[in-house]
Amino acid sequence: MEKQTPSYQDASMPTYGRIDLSFVKGEGCYLVTDDGKRFLDCASGIAVNTLGHCHPKLIETLNKQSKMLWHTSNLYRIPEQERLAYRLAKACKLDQVFFCNSGAEANEASVKMARRFQYRRNKVIKTNILCAEGAFHGRTLGMLSATSNPVYREGFGESVSGFEHVSFGNLKELRNAINEKTAAIMIEPIQGEGGVNVAAERYLLGLREAADEFGALLIADEVQTGMGRTGTLFAFQQSGVQPDIVALAKGLGGGFPVGAVVAREEVGNAMGPGSHGSTFGGNPLAMAVANCVLDVLEEDDFLQNVRDVSSYLEYRLNKLLVTYPKFISQLKGLGFLRGIGLTKNLTAADLSAALRTRGILTVPAGLNTLRILPPLIITKQEIDVFSDALTECFEEAS
Ligand SMILES: *Cc1c(COP(=O)(O)O)cnc(C)c1O
Repeated sequence: MEKQTPSYQDASMPTYGRIDLSFVKGEGCYLVTDDGKRFLDCASGIAVNTLGHCHPKLIETLNKQSKMLWHTSNLYRIPEQERLAYRLAKACKLDQVFFCNSGAEANEASVKMARRFQYRRNKVIKTNILCAEGAFHGRTLGMLSATSNPVYREGFGESVSGFEHVSFGNLKELRNAINEKTAAIMIEPIQGEGGVNVAAERYLLGLREAADEFGALLIADEVQTGMGRTGTLFAFQQSGVQPDIVALAKGLGGGFPVGAVVAREEVGNAMGPGSHGSTFGGNPLAMAVANCVLDVLEEDDFLQNVRDVSSYLEYRLNKLLVTYPKFISQLKGLGFLRGIGLTKNLTAADLSAALRTRGILTVPAGLNTLRILPPLIITKQEIDVFSDALTECFEEAS
């Protein structure tokens, strides 16, 4: 007998614990459900909707490009891809860019590049990648091995070899682990999924020093922190530490799937024709949209405004920290990648649900942290709406 799939919903693989909301429209920082409820989006599709929903410039760009050309493959030159590569390389103080479609792919390619660079340079087995505990680098088989939480790896067989984890922020441990077999250190300047844990400037400087001492590369996974999220175009810029490779995705296309690896010339040059590739990566449609996102981020006051409005958010959160020590253990993060560390009196999932009943979307993260990731265009008034709702939630829980 033929088996019937019982409903539309059941035809989706149960890989996600989905919330029973479905949105049909987005306007700026708001999302509207099929039954007309409006939600203030402080999640941005997990740090993706950099410019909010349906930004007029993105609509115009996408519409225009959709009538010109969508896809050609990388068998041919793609002028918009060359232009975005140039702009991203320049912004990162690096030289070359490879385009892909997601964060996991960007990190995966970063690791391949680091290994290939070492192989070309030394002809020795210098393949190990040092990662941090609490790290999240994606879901491919390779990146599962770079990701520290064993929950993500359960039942998926042998790990890919050559990944080692040391505790985040502990230079001594890192220096004990690094050796002549280390190809690269891979780090998120702020661990997003891991609980909005900010790497101290001293730590990042120490990583750079250790990498240089052992001839290893420094890979910054800026998939979540990049594209203005922390108040500068890239989070690494705030520490003055220069990575050799930067992985980008999430906010890069403002909602259009696109990822990128930005690297030093010597690293890029180790990757000859045929060494890596992506059918979709960097296609004209994605490149037009990502160039447009970057245009807006590079407008005169855009990032200054992100810094101003996000420090207002910080001010509002600090007031809550003083008032509700019973619930808030600490505030974490920078710019519009913020975490509220909660005490055992309240779970991040419950707080996120309570905010949802008040029409606000947020995302829980590791270490019982509520993550706040609004579109970078959020206003002070909208921060007030968010903060007032949050105050109500703490009052209700008291
Ligand atoms: C989300 C994320 C990834 C994975 O990105 P995907 O696009 O889901 O593959 C990798 N690294 C970091 C830091 C992330 O936040």
